[in-house]
Amino acid sequence: MPAPLHLPAEALEALRHGWGYDGFRPMQAEAVAAAMGGRDALVILPTGGGKSLCYQVPAACGKLVVVVSPLIALMDDQVAGAREAGLKAGALHSNLDERERSRVRTALAAGELDLIYVSPERLLVGDLAGRLARAPDIVAVDEAHCVSHWGHDFRPEYRRLTEALDQWPTAARMALTATATAQVQDDIAVQLALRDPLRLVGHVDRPNLVFRVLPRTERLRQIQEVVARHPGAGGIVYALTRKDVEQLAESLRGHGVDAAAYHAGMAAEARRKVQDGFVNERIAVVVATVAFGMGIDRSNVRFVVHAAAPRSVEHYQQESGRAGRDGGPAECVLLWGGADFATHRFLAGRDDPSPERRRALDRQLAGIGRYCVAPLCRHRLLVEHFDQPWPAPGAAEGACGACDVCLGETEAMPDDEAMVTAQKILSCVWRMESRWGAGQLIDVLRGRDTDKVQRAGHHRLTTFGLLKDAPEPALRAWIDQLVIQDLLTSDENAEYPVLMLTEAGYRLCKGDGTVRLGRITARPAKASRRRERGAGTTEAPADQALAERLRQWRRETAAAQGVPPYVVFPDTTLTAIASAKPSTLDALRQVKGIGDAKLARYGAAVLAVVAEG
Ligand code: ADP
Ligand code: ZN
Repeated sequence: MPAPLHLPAEALEALRHGWGYDGFRPMQAEAVAAAMGGRDALVILPTGGGKSLCYQVPAACGKLVVVVSPLIALMDDQVAGAREAGLKAGALHSNLDERERSRVRTALAAGELDLIYVSPERLLVGDLAGRLARAPDIVAVDEAHCVSHWGHDFRPEYRRLTEALDQWPTAARMALTATATAQVQDDIAVQLALRDPLRLVGHVDRPNLVFRVLPRTERLRQIQEVVARHPGAGGIVYALTRKDVEQLAESLRGHGVDAAAYHAGMAAEARRKVQDGFVNERIAVVVATVAFGMGIDRSNVRFVVHAAAPRSVEHYQQESGRAGRDGGPAECVLLWGGADFATHRFLAGRDDPSPERRRALDRQLAGIGRYCVAPLCRHRLLVEHFDQPWPAPGAAEGACGACDVCLGETEAMPDDEAMVTAQKILSCVWRMESRWGAGQLIDVLRGRDTDKVQRAGHHRLTTFGLLKDAPEPALRAWIDQLVIQDLLTSDENAEYPVLMLTEAGYRLCKGDGTVRLGRITARPAKASRRRERGAGTTEAPADQALAERLRQWRRETAAAQGVPPYVVFPDTTLTAIASAKPSTLDALRQVKGIGDAKLARYGAAVLAVVAEG
């Protein structure tokens, strides 16, 4: 039996002193206690759940901690962040210049560091152990899903990590990831040879994110609306193809949005410029393919828009999860159309047409398709996809208050109305002999007497004008919803995509089966409704002018130190200062996110900015 977990009092003290936080988030205290007690642990927390503190707090308590991370691009920022909390941190990876490398080595040999970040490549070279003044107490493996073939970014070099970890048999191992599937969890435990690990699985829900799903009608206008709800704030717009990325970035710029394009076809230098510009808040919006993300640690991304359906729910969770990592309110909007699914099949077929991969893709697309069309709480759908309970333990029952369905913007059609509407559409397809695309179908249903309708004689069909009061975008969305529910299918190999009834579609026409249709009832009004997790609603509203001055000060301070602005203060802290308007160091110290190190370093400057107003 492993010893019962005990959280040393100094851990809570370190959290207050170093980070200015009052308490641990779910699973953090257990992770810290396990590591400090010498027990192996597997920590699964969603993005923004606070994984870094699980190993940084023990380091602040005097444990020697080695962190293995594959994201070299982020390491320097993580080191800078840890130093802000007063830790003695350093990094070893292949991108260091000679001076910095020798500085870190000297510090290592002298035993001056508490926290050492190292890339897997560097660790496998095997020279770190010899340079350390003593064996580490804790070895943390970040992004641990990289050891698993089942993970979405498997790294072969991670498979050899155990050999390197075995150099320090007495060190407690901590594996951390945001990937929640049981298969990946088991694989991590095996691959890293975790010894009877404590499994700490946090709830996947991200209550600070507002999720919205909208049929794509006018892409540019819909994206502009989201951008307009977050003036000047950081956001990511994902598109499927390079061409879409470039077009969208340009159109947004044409409408005065500070947007840059990013995709794998751009030169490395150009990509680096966009990435740096975004992280350092010189660029507000990046329009990108999914190539953009790994290695972006900006914690104050306030919105993520998908201009087309992503490839799977897992991808959606990961990509949308880049919003609001600081725990502040953020918005994730998915714009989808029926054609997106065909595009995914096309893109996948280009690289790997194996039947096995195709079946896997079909399953993934069906999953994200259900997410798009089901007029059910989006938070709930995401959580249940990962086999977790809804509502989260301890959370209130009822509407989430943070998705288009629960906010009353999208509603489910009553069952009988959905059935009748679906039957009207399906029988029209049947009367049109399954030889036409969505455009003609919509014209016929709406009773539009076009030349094409005349020539085909469709104005004589009994279904002509059967849905004449339905707006075109709604009809298009319903057709897509029927395709995703497998009641209609479109022949993607035809020159023009032709809609046909499926077996289930025929049966539904006869009243056999079920169908769900949703409709949009209101325009999104608010960017968010929920406040920071755990925070009460007693805070005064932030003084906007002061918030802007603080942001400006933060940008300048960060630039002078060569670190990203969020390393100086997260947005949540900045907003809290702008509402508390402290006039003394003591008052400033009460603000969440201001620890002693930050108070000493920035206190006077922040008070001066507050006093300016
Ligand atoms: P992850 O690596 O899991 O995505 P991070 O470690 O980057 O998450 O933490 C996300 C944000 O939450 C950071 O701004 C961090 O300072 C903040 N945070 C972490 N733990 C706490 C806590 N106990 N209380 C308040 N904020 C926290
Ligand atoms: Zn909801």
